[in-house]
Amino acid sequence: MPETSTGPPEGTSPLGAPPTAPEPARWIVYVDLDAFYVSCELRERPELRGRPVIVGPPPKDGPTRGVVLSASYEARKFGIHSAQPAVTAARLCPDAIWIPPDFRKYGEVSAQVRARLARFSAEVTPFSIDEAAVTIDAPDPSAARTVAEEIQRDLAENLDLPASLGVATTRIVAKIATDAAKPGGIRVVPPDEVAAFLAPLPVRAIPGVGPKTEEIFQRHGVRTIGELAERKPSEAAGWLGGFGRDLVALARGVPIASSEGESGPRSRSTDHTFAADVGAWAEMEVAVRQLAVELARSLAEEGLRYGAVGVAYRWADFTRSQRSRTLPAAQEGSATLEEVALRLARELWDSEQAGRERPVRTLSVRTERLSERTQRQVSLDEYPRGSDPRSEN
Ligand SMILES: [Mg+2]
Repeated sequence: MPETSTGPPEGTSPLGAPPTAPEPARWIVYVDLDAFYVSCELRERPELRGRPVIVGPPPKDGPTRGVVLSASYEARKFGIHSAQPAVTAARLCPDAIWIPPDFRKYGEVSAQVRARLARFSAEVTPFSIDEAAVTIDAPDPSAARTVAEEIQRDLAENLDLPASLGVATTRIVAKIATDAAKPGGIRVVPPDEVAAFLAPLPVRAIPGVGPKTEEIFQRHGVRTIGELAERKPSEAAGWLGGFGRDLVALARGVPIASSEGESGPRSRSTDHTFAADVGAWAEMEVAVRQLAVELARSLAEEGLRYGAVGVAYRWADFTRSQRSRTLPAAQEGSATLEEVALRLARELWDSEQAGRERPVRTLSVRTERLSERTQRQVSLDEYPRGSDPRSEN
């Protein structure tokens, strides 16, 4: 479940907020323009399409310290990439066409892109000259994909710019999906497929994991995100503090609020999508208990206590209802979690399901207001986020 759709703030009604109106799921469509500087130039020189084109200081014209700023995919076939010394690139592909950079032009095109994206969402967050996250509402993965396809087509038709798009319910997964979609693709990763999608990728695929962090992981025998998912959060915390803990959560497909740059307390949730939609309370009760116990176990493993509990149903028609409750004091263990989750689930069931024959497709149990059980608490900021040498791709 997206962390951004947690509904009314807990505490406004200590006895549980009334069920909210059905709410569509929020998705992040991460947009990354392909070979952006080159694409900006090709708009004006279409005759160069399909040829190896490099934006950067031509090596014969200037100091030899110049680097490739952007390379067309045809040039990349020769082994040319961003940040490569221009002299090396010239040796790899003597016939490449070099175009000196025009940053004012790229800035103007970037503004045009943001204006197009603003037509799709009020919430567009630029991350660099050629990357932005677009927050959209969509009831299911295929509807989210349709919006991504529309965005991709819009940028191609109106601005003549190719883009790769990643779609997920958290920004960090959407960004990783975008990298998997390059060039020119769209990759949708629904919440229940996150762990499987990430597993085969190298840890380096995670934004913020640079060469130093990668080296630390390798020292402990962790090369892929799947291998990281099998480690204990406390173990990774021993290597990298809270950052390591959050990376394990990410590797397991758990949304991490703290790395999303969102305000408010961190949360953890666990979902279950039923093989067949559930219309009987007895079956729901079993599922609630099971998820509560699972969630309590994973919190204990992370050394976390919880101060609020929430339950959400996604109905068969993809609308969503939820309830949450703040506890008088932070708790650990499964007893309180199970009891409160069960009560909330029953209240929601009685008020929303009764007499409507609207079965549940997905159940989600959530904990919020998390705090460390131990004194030690390390901020994400204390760790180098690792610079990405692929400054523009
Ligand atoms: Mg790019």
